[in-house]
Amino acid sequence: MKLAVYPGSFDPVTNGHIDILERTSKLFDKIVVAVIHNVSKQALFTPQERADLIRESTKHLPNIEVECFSGLLADYVSGKHACAIIRGLRTVIDFEYEMQMAMWNRVLIPNLETIFVMSDSKYTFVSSSGVKEAALLGGNVSSLVPEVVERGLLAKLTIIRQNKEG
Ligand code: ADP
Repeated sequence: MKLAVYPGSFDPVTNGHIDILERTSKLFDKIVVAVIHNVSKQALFTPQERADLIRESTKHLPNIEVECFSGLLADYVSGKHACAIIRGLRTVIDFEYEMQMAMWNRVLIPNLETIFVMSDSKYTFVSSSGVKEAALLGGNVSSLVPEVVERGLLAKLTIIRQNKEG
């Protein structure tokens, strides 16, 4: 079975991520979306919330599983017996960092390939951080994220406003 891991922060998942999953789910038997729990990075959604949002948004793709993980990606990927890591590319800005990561992972697991996939051109400017910034300032991001994520962002916005008032 050809299994690939798609790791990332997904804070939160966007239509850019979903586009990558729709493209790659046709290439592999199974894809495990690995939500990275990075304690040094402040996130808006908890790892569990992020994983649930991905699960809700990928119901139309039968071969996707979602898990949370922390630690070394190479260890996680080896444990899954994955043949590839999937990463998305937007612009050349992504490329330098992604290439370095791929080289590191090749040193750690020589027979593992990193597969880079480009999303539809309409998503090249979309990032989780951009979506969060716009949404938390009251902007409409409905064309950039799954509906369930839009609702999640609005719920976070309400909590933040309540905390400010209280
Ligand atoms: P990370 O913190 O690991 O970069 P992200 O959730 O931001 O996690 O992104 C996970 C992966 O998805 C990365 O490879 C990133 O380049 C890719 N990605 C994010 N947004 C898009 C997009 N709009 N189009 C294509 N790839 C994307």
